[in-house]
Amino acid sequence: MFKKVLIANRGEIALRIQRACRELGIKSVVVYSEADRDAKYVRLADEAVCIGPAPSAQSYLSMPAIIATAEVTDAEAIHPGYGFLSENADFAERVERSGFTFIGPTPEAIRIMGDKVSAKQAMIRAGVPCVPGSEGALPEDPKEIIKIARSVGYPVIIKAAGGGGGRGMRVVHTEAALVHAVQTTRAEAGAAFGNPQVYMEKFLENPRHVEIQVLADTHRNAVWLGERDCSMQRRHQKIIEEAPAPGIPRRIIEKVGDRCAAACKKIGYRGAGTFEFLYENGEFYFIEMNTRVQVEHPVTELVTGIDIVQQQIKIAAGEKLPFTQRQIELRGHAIECRINAEDPVKFVPSPGRITMWHAPGGPGVRVDSHAYTNYFVPPNYDSMIGKIIVHGDTREQALARMRIALSETVVEGIQTNIPLHRELMADAKFIEGGTSIHYLEAWMAAHKR
Ligand code: ADP
Repeated sequence: MFKKVLIANRGEIALRIQRACRELGIKSVVVYSEADRDAKYVRLADEAVCIGPAPSAQSYLSMPAIIATAEVTDAEAIHPGYGFLSENADFAERVERSGFTFIGPTPEAIRIMGDKVSAKQAMIRAGVPCVPGSEGALPEDPKEIIKIARSVGYPVIIKAAGGGGGRGMRVVHTEAALVHAVQTTRAEAGAAFGNPQVYMEKFLENPRHVEIQVLADTHRNAVWLGERDCSMQRRHQKIIEEAPAPGIPRRIIEKVGDRCAAACKKIGYRGAGTFEFLYENGEFYFIEMNTRVQVEHPVTELVTGIDIVQQQIKIAAGEKLPFTQRQIELRGHAIECRINAEDPVKFVPSPGRITMWHAPGGPGVRVDSHAYTNYFVPPNYDSMIGKIIVHGDTREQALARMRIALSETVVEGIQTNIPLHRELMADAKFIEGGTSIHYLEAWMAAHKR
């Protein structure tokens, strides 16, 4: 096992990784920007190194600064967390070429999954069900594009191969609008992602977002750890996640889960990963794979009892997975609310000093947050300041525990989306379970938000 790991991230996930390291007896080195000088995990770290000013480009995205820090501190491995450099194949490659272990998949796997066209092709080959659409990138010839759209059937969605974060997508309802939409998306994708390739999918009208968590070691073992329903989204950004996904028959989920684990073996995947699917009318359709730990990983940890971050570290150190698929049991129900520093109605970021922070507690309540009373939320980064995760024997108990946890939580000095979460936890349709990816935006419109 490693003696020292460098954490190339910030915020709650830096603290989460640090906790995993501690439990494994590993020393942690954290890198931080000038804006994060007073962060909790910086104070708690065995070693902390300031690597630059607040803008990410000069700190958390600076590969030379991070690798140089690993060198001077004698760290053996680098955990990239999520966001920032976590899905950057060049970074993974530079880390390994500099003699460190990258806690994540191989650079090749990151590269294949980072290009949605090649990811989909790999999944089709591995037997994972995908959204029907073009085979690979769209050709130049408008006649060919029209032909493909006719065979897929309208509405279709044009997506950028290099897209991410919900950007680079356009829905097309009629043939008249098709060719122009393809050209516009291509031009935008070229400018935004440096890759003008686009592809076509059938646009699913009312799907849910259901994803499968996997773990794969370097000894050809791969397992899946159940699913997460992340349909509660605003502008393709998840705000509530839960496990298991309400109302989906287990045999349907087991079939897709087994396919995901088999695909990991087939492509030689290593580490933690997530297969993202849209689910509609009893069918799963793959949309993309994330090759890193995800924000919502705790709901899976609570229903499986497996520490995903520790497993990532152990896999990177060459250890075998300590369980087989049959030994993984799902117990109860878990729900996560992402707490964002933002106006709960207008969603404008609300950085600044937290004058009062009181976290909830009690049975089945977990809080992953780097915030505290007098912590200053810097304006430079993502607005998420923490996550409240609850676990119960049933979904009803988990909902009740989340309501209590939200009622106990006090955050003063800045605005947060806690009032929105309180309303959603009392919403009849959410309580019923199984709402689609469009539900939250429709709810907001109905509530004149
Ligand atoms: P990104 O990498 O930008 O997050 P994804 O491919 O994961 O892109 O898609 C993001 C979101 O866009 C999905 O969660 C879903 O809301 C919507 N979306 C993507 N593909 C489709 C599709 N074929 N039909 C309907 N909605 C889609």
